[in-house]
Amino acid sequence: MTFLDQYKKQYINRNIQFVVIDLQGHILESDQTFIELKEGDLIYDVHPFFMSFSAILDATQASITYNCVHIEVQDKEFITDLKIFKKENHVLLVIYDLTEHYLDYQSIAQARNESIINSELVVLKNVELEERERFKNAFIQNFSHELRNPLTSIISITNLLEGTNLDNEQRQMVDFLKQSNSNLRLLLDDILSISMIASGRLQLRNKVFNLYDLLELIKFTYKSKTSQKSLRFVMEYDHKIPEYLEGDRLRLFQILTNLLDNALKFTEKGTITLNVKLNQKRANKVSLRFEVADTGIGIPSEKSNAIFESFTRLETEDKKEGVGLGLSIVKGLLSLMGSEVKVESIPGQGSIFYFDVTLIYALDLASKPIEKIKAKPIDVSKLKGHRKYKVLLVEDDERTQTVLFKALMETALFYIDLVNDGALVFETVMNNSYDIILMDVDLPNVPGDQITKLIRGFPFKDIKGIPIIGITGNVFKENIEGYLDDGMNAVVPKPFDFHELLETIIKHLK
Ligand code: ADP
Repeated sequence: MTFLDQYKKQYINRNIQFVVIDLQGHILESDQTFIELKEGDLIYDVHPFFMSFSAILDATQASITYNCVHIEVQDKEFITDLKIFKKENHVLLVIYDLTEHYLDYQSIAQARNESIINSELVVLKNVELEERERFKNAFIQNFSHELRNPLTSIISITNLLEGTNLDNEQRQMVDFLKQSNSNLRLLLDDILSISMIASGRLQLRNKVFNLYDLLELIKFTYKSKTSQKSLRFVMEYDHKIPEYLEGDRLRLFQILTNLLDNALKFTEKGTITLNVKLNQKRANKVSLRFEVADTGIGIPSEKSNAIFESFTRLETEDKKEGVGLGLSIVKGLLSLMGSEVKVESIPGQGSIFYFDVTLIYALDLASKPIEKIKAKPIDVSKLKGHRKYKVLLVEDDERTQTVLFKALMETALFYIDLVNDGALVFETVMNNSYDIILMDVDLPNVPGDQITKLIRGFPFKDIKGIPIIGITGNVFKENIEGYLDDGMNAVVPKPFDFHELLETIIKHLK
């Protein structure tokens, strides 16, 4: 026997059984490959499935095939394909044992189904998460936008009020108002930061800055804040750290002040420390470790992850201010910097929050332009000797109108016209000659960005080229970029600082 014959015998015969049956159903012959069948027995008694045999006897076709038939005989279970051939005076039954094949197939099919179901579940989950995230961000965007208008008015009116004749008690109340305004503005900025980080829209702005100046500013601020609570403030930094570094100064400041504000808030006695260490300096990079330590109430270890989630606050004996955004902003900002904030704490003794950041350092950095920390005074020299400028103020919110009108009038630099409906702007612009337009974006009838486009498309140069400064509560980067694309010369987000707005106006006057 050749190898091939041996193999054929070994493999083929094991899986196929031939049975010859008479027309009454008696087993005449069986090669017994895998099922023991006794000659003379009725095939119907072997397994109920064979009852269907009688069907072929009456049927006109010569053969029938059944697939995937489960047969249990002699305590064994087979999954088979059956072929029945009707001959003149007998029936040939061919049984293919495909148990292994079907089981494999089944498990593959099941695995496949499961994986399809799982991947669909994952897709559904992602869709739901994205949908929720989108909704949350849209909500925050609208909500912060709605708050910006009234807040702008409150801040500006408070500033105007401060400049009037006030007695001591009134001055105290104005101070209190100013404090609350700035808290509210910070909160609004925090909420916006969170939604921008969450939606991936916050981008770091890396520039050269003086780290020592930044640390000294922090020292100055926190020395006075801690002394108000009779706490000590200690700041130490390694003088081997280069003074000029490239990074996002504003965000680093935001991270440190969030941590320091918490240290201050949760500490009643002892010391708050800011420590800046040099991890390493290699090529043009320095790795720094910032540590904010306090001797306050501490954080139980099982809560040390939860505190970084947004809107999470731990129960404290006396209620502290805050909404639970500070640490999640710190976490989000640091992840943009490729870093992570960690905490070590002993309840009742204090906490240390720390993180490492890598900043760029190069010898020639000192010669690059450095980001200024202090606002520079407004340069009005170019306005000297000029006639008063004509400003068109397009704003529908009455409080913002009043505030801007008064503040602009007080500079004695401008004549001001006011329009409060988008549909009236174009006509007003055609019939007058303005030096500049201050344009709110959300206006009744025609929005400010569309009016800007219309003006920029106008054929006459004196109208087409009027500088337009947008004022808006839509402070997301893509909104602002969109308005600039529409032709606005600059966009000032609400709530604005009048000083900042005036500076922008003056910059764009011709
Ligand atoms: P907020 O300070 O507005 O509550 P954060 O996100 O900054 O929000 O902090 C979340 C919570 O973490 C705080 O409410 C407080 O329970 C806990 N926590 C943060 N910093 C400290 C700290 N230095 N000492 C003790 N607990 C802290």
